[in-house]
Amino acid sequence: MTRSSLPIANSNAVGMRCIRCAESFPLTDYLEGCPACAAASMPSSLQIDYCSFPAALKSHDASEWLVYPQTLLGEGNTPFYALPRLARDVGVAALSVKFEGANPTGSHKDRMSAVLVQRARVAGASTVAIASSGNAGASLAAYAAHVGLECVVVTTPKMSANWRRAIKMCGASIVMVQTPDERWQLVREKSRTGQWYPANNYLLPAVGSNPFGVDGYRAVAIELASQWQEQPATDVLVPTSRGDVLWGVAQGFCDLRSMGALETIPRVHAVEPFPRIEQVQSGADYRTSFGGMSRMTSLGGNTVAYQAIDALRKTDGSAVAVAEGCVLEDQKKLARAGLYLELSSAAGLTGLRNLVRRGVIGLEAHAVVLATSHGYKDP
Ligand SMILES: [Zn+2]
Repeated sequence: MTRSSLPIANSNAVGMRCIRCAESFPLTDYLEGCPACAAASMPSSLQIDYCSFPAALKSHDASEWLVYPQTLLGEGNTPFYALPRLARDVGVAALSVKFEGANPTGSHKDRMSAVLVQRARVAGASTVAIASSGNAGASLAAYAAHVGLECVVVTTPKMSANWRRAIKMCGASIVMVQTPDERWQLVREKSRTGQWYPANNYLLPAVGSNPFGVDGYRAVAIELASQWQEQPATDVLVPTSRGDVLWGVAQGFCDLRSMGALETIPRVHAVEPFPRIEQVQSGADYRTSFGGMSRMTSLGGNTVAYQAIDALRKTDGSAVAVAEGCVLEDQKKLARAGLYLELSSAAGLTGLRNLVRRGVIGLEAHAVVLATSHGYKDP
């Protein structure tokens, strides 16, 4: 993409719609979610509203389903393969992995960054910004560099040296603050004055990330439906923080069902480092704060966004918390199967074990674990 030509949006994208109250809005930037739900103190994300979808599934290529269909650095179309020994170990009929570590900066975040920087250029922004503990910042830095945007990553001193180096090499600035809440505060100030174009949430209670970026995650479901061939997935396990990729995968499956490509869709389950969404499913208010600590830094945070609840509701999925010690064991087991993942990313397999043990996922299942990031980034 050259600086002079602006990205062209998908002609099927006709507006924005609230995922909670279903109110429609023009196709433009709503950086703080649905205005109607915000006014009612029920913060919620907007989604891109499509009038129709492509008539057929193309083998592995989902880009034409997205709001900005241009691929920038080769993101997406990630590998999908079976892990039969681990399937026996867990006790399900089939276990497959969708390896998002094969994206250009090594994580699923590239799907969000690719769409986000295209939207930022259309919006006339000069600087994109993100509050990040690692993967998202490294990804946005690379994509901003590619299209000639300035990038600021706001983080805390906990960010590992690997990530800091990658971000700086791409020419982005790192701003250090002391706490995750201070990150959001700074991004909020700069975004509200129009200095930065934000990639993710900066509100408390939280909403999902920028809806243009989240739209990019729908491609995971579209690709899966063309990759699983004669053995459709029954359950998809997604390591989750505020639920951007969880919601994108769930919505992608719903889109496939609405255009007739799938009769039934898999359940999409949220795997978390400590109970947050799980507490909401047991009756807690999603707008409160959920305490907990974890070394699974990519899944951190004390908030739940409404989009996570929506994703589970519309696919009949569950939320499941995993113990760090068990995830460390599964990280080793995955590596012994040839798949070295970031600790946060290995949580998907542990979540599957827990749901099999609870009887939520049956022995006849074809489970797909979304392997969100490779292991080279772990501090
Ligand atoms: Zn709303």
